Amino acid sequence: MVVGDFPIELDTLVIGAGPGGYVAAIRAAQTGQNVTIVDKGNLGGVCLNVGCVPSKALIQAGHRYEHAKGAEDMGIQSENTTVDFSKVQEWKSGVVQKLTGGVEGLLKNNKVDIVKGEVYFVDKNTVRIMDDKNSQTYTFNNCIIATGSRPIELPNFKFSERVIDSTGALALNEVPKKMVVIGGGYIGTELGTAYANFDTEVTILEGMKDILGGFEKQMSSLVKKRLKKKGVDIVTNAMAQGVEETEDGVKVTYEVKGEEKTIEADYVLVTVGRRPNTDEIGLEELGVEMSDKGVIQIDKQCRTNFDNIYAIGDIVDGPPLAHKASYEGKIAAEVIAGEKSEIDYLGIPAVVFSDPELASVGYTEEEAKEAGYDVKASKFPFGANGRALSLNDSDGFLKLITRQDDNLVIGAQIAGPNASDMISELGLAIEAGMTAEDLALTIHAHPTLGEITMEAAEVAMGSPIHITK
Ligand SMILES: Cc1cc2nc3c(=O)[nH]c(=O)nc-3n(C[C@H](O)[C@H](O)[C@H](O)COP(=O)(O)OP(=O)(O)OC[C@H]3O[C@@H](n4cnc5c(N)ncnc54)[C@H](O)[C@@H]3O)c2cc1C
Repeated sequence: MVVGDFPIELDTLVIGAGPGGYVAAIRAAQTGQNVTIVDKGNLGGVCLNVGCVPSKALIQAGHRYEHAKGAEDMGIQSENTTVDFSKVQEWKSGVVQKLTGGVEGLLKNNKVDIVKGEVYFVDKNTVRIMDDKNSQTYTFNNCIIATGSRPIELPNFKFSERVIDSTGALALNEVPKKMVVIGGGYIGTELGTAYANFDTEVTILEGMKDILGGFEKQMSSLVKKRLKKKGVDIVTNAMAQGVEETEDGVKVTYEVKGEEKTIEADYVLVTVGRRPNTDEIGLEELGVEMSDKGVIQIDKQCRTNFDNIYAIGDIVDGPPLAHKASYEGKIAAEVIAGEKSEIDYLGIPAVVFSDPELASVGYTEEEAKEAGYDVKASKFPFGANGRALSLNDSDGFLKLITRQDDNLVIGAQIAGPNASDMISELGLAIEAGMTAEDLALTIHAHPTLGEITMEAAEVAMGSPIHITK
């Protein structure tokens, strides 16, 4: 290995080129900083390479296949619909390549220097960056750490060809006949749904009393109903015990209500959470404050206990989501540039690309009450919306949370088709300090799912047109 003798001096160093890091680098460059970004893997991080983007591509392909098989109640019948899964994978990889190539172009156009290698901290202004052949020391004025997270491996489920994590599930070159998913969080539910749509027999083993624990019961129940319709078996309060690899698959043992059971499958997908990548980069030795789970402690400006070191994304508190990482990245970059930006998480949405989609922003009714607000929850069903009916996809509802005294919008939850897109309008309403009246007075095009938002606001105002009390 060649060791560089003379440190290279940098202005702002960004570590990790996921949605946190690459966005931070671009914003830092826009504010006039000289920026270098380093990543040991591919540009785009987990999100673009093995997370948000490929998973949504697979989910979309699964939906297409499901739809192509026909819609009897719409009078459409189709026989002999087949899937060439290697083609699906090829298409999915093409989408990923387009986006990661785009990130490289954006970084270069913003004059961000890109370095490939693994970072290790030496002191509060120095890192060593290593690749297969070289080790080079760099000094920096400011640094933004955005090293992301990796799947948690259960001790009795060592990852292998058949015991897979989400990355493995996205890279399968065949549609499994049977798959066991351990963990019914959003990643397990999304991937389970995608494969169920491709006709895999899916069993979800969830240790808690329900899947999608972070969402209201009324929302997760809709997803469970659809999953059951697709033939997915959901076993709750089920503790996965161990796995035995057979010649061509796995035998998974789990315990439910004190009874031990086994289930055979081609693959077992383990999605029981992710851990921050903060343990092997010299942060403990440097004295960066972290929780016992390795989550870096930051202030409202993303600053760690070192005033020139910032941390963003999956390695800090809050929901591990790409848009949160990007949001924090912009804040850290602006703070380094001397701006007064700071975090306000209220308007950050959370989405599950399940069937139907779930989305939430701001407070839920319960959270708002716990926070001391006197609130009103106003619901409007997708079933009373013309567009939803014409899509033949009308299960679901939108629930708007407003303050009782002044109708200020402080939260919203949606379960239904296109919830992932619809939630943006509600996020904007919260950010802009809008009331239910503002939403109700906004003319929404007809027939659209957007009208559901307007109608829920009318419910809040006490004068809905398309439903009666
Ligand atoms: C299957 C799946 C689906 C998902 N779907 C969604 C979704 O629909 N919506 C959503 O918002 N979020 C989704 N997520 C979560 C999302 O991917 C993450 O929240 C997001 O990628 C976090 O961004 P980040 O910048 O913090 O880190 P990452 O994207 O993890 O990027 C970190 C980067 O740092 C690099 N790195 C790590 N250590 C070092 C080191 N020592 N030296 C140099 N480089 C290093 C890594 O190579 C990596 O490129 C999904 C995740 C998964 C796994």
